Amino acid sequence: MNVYDSSRISDMLQKEGYEPTVKQTEADIVLFNTCHIREKAAEKLFSDLGRAKLIADERAEHGKNTVIGVVGCVVQAEDTQIIKRAPFVDFALGPLMYHKIPEVLHQIKTNKERQSVVNTDFPAESKFDYLPENKAQGACSFLAIQEGCNNFCTYCVVPYTRGVEYSRPVAEVLTEARRLLDTGTLEINLLGQNVNSYHGEDENGHERDLAYLLHRVAELDGIKRIRYTTSYPADMSDELIACHKDIPTLMPYLHLPIQSGSDRILKAMNRRHTSGDYLRIVEKLKKANPNIGMSSDFIVGFPGETDADFRQTLDVVNQVKYIQAFSFKYSRRAGTPAAVMDNQVEEKVKKERLEILQNLLFDYQTEFNRNCVGKVMPVLLEQKGRHKGQLIGRTPYMQNLHVETNGANLNKIIEVKVAEATTNSLTGKEI
Ligand code: SAH
Ligand code: SF4
Repeated sequence: MNVYDSSRISDMLQKEGYEPTVKQTEADIVLFNTCHIREKAAEKLFSDLGRAKLIADERAEHGKNTVIGVVGCVVQAEDTQIIKRAPFVDFALGPLMYHKIPEVLHQIKTNKERQSVVNTDFPAESKFDYLPENKAQGACSFLAIQEGCNNFCTYCVVPYTRGVEYSRPVAEVLTEARRLLDTGTLEINLLGQNVNSYHGEDENGHERDLAYLLHRVAELDGIKRIRYTTSYPADMSDELIACHKDIPTLMPYLHLPIQSGSDRILKAMNRRHTSGDYLRIVEKLKKANPNIGMSSDFIVGFPGETDADFRQTLDVVNQVKYIQAFSFKYSRRAGTPAAVMDNQVEEKVKKERLEILQNLLFDYQTEFNRNCVGKVMPVLLEQKGRHKGQLIGRTPYMQNLHVETNGANLNKIIEVKVAEATTNSLTGKEI
């Protein structure tokens, strides 16, 4: 979601006459888009800001002004604390306020005295109505269709930082999708914190679900691949599962986070599913498309998690045989119910469990990748590789594939015979 937001911010600044640069010494504006989901991500901001300040000071010696801004969920959570800890920050805007950047830049320029601007409102208007026209950033594009969350899992900051659930209207999504396709995209990844609870209004004012939207996107000219991320297990409707059978451009890969395999822990997390519910959904998905590959998020060391609870998480991994996954140590987030639970798990235990879980996940991922050797897979070429003639693309399962091409160009789908596999990538030759 932050990658998508950053690209929209970039669209907006380019419309204001700015150009992107990779050299910070050249930058008139330095903007940090931040994540607050775990402590590590949030802390990184302050060390990055310190570095940006040093460069801004050097530029000032040459008479160049630098505006330093922060956007995203850390701002929403920390509010004016950001300016207290880093007083040189010129502006800080929450994730629902970034459409105000041009206005804020103008305000800063015209202010007689230097004054930091902070805005963490949850505005009544939708920022999407104020953003300039999007365009493709490459062969694969993200498209946010839903934002915020009403689930309030007890460990999670999202409902507090991204606000209540909001779905963009169907027509708006289709217009943005068409523009992405017209400007070179072949693959669209529909995004939302809980993308499968999408309930946007259609052209006649009827509320529509994600299954409906997927069918509409699949009808668009030029669309080759569709994905959607991230889904909440309790919202996997039968209609949505059927899309995995009925829509050939819907990729056979689904990120469906379970978090824990223990029903006791899932309850304490306030998740609206049991491990049994989850496994039944996976079974239905595999029936709809026997080739589907599953991915998930896991949290280890949630307050009160015992060895027995943790073993149930490992059991789920052994049953589903994920082809890819993300796993994290539970991180205490201020303001969430789990942060003040009195049965916190020791750091050492969290570390041990994470290692055991990741080893198991990597084994399944490597096994899946190795089983691809010898197969021919369609690959969407996205970027240049290190060697001449080598391009990097993605398979339908999101694996990175390094391809020796016969002169094929980027932004095309080609057939590749897989020659080698590691845990994280594949290599192969165009056929
Ligand atoms: N809406 C999605 C997840 C969005 S947050 C869902 O409900 O599945 C992305 C991931 O960050 C979560 O799936 C979770 O695994 C992880 N996460 C969120 N809060 C966390 C915390 N406090 N500590 C560790 N991991 C966390
Ligand atoms: Fe966070 Fe996802 Fe739970 Fe919402 S459903 S509170 S985004 S983990």
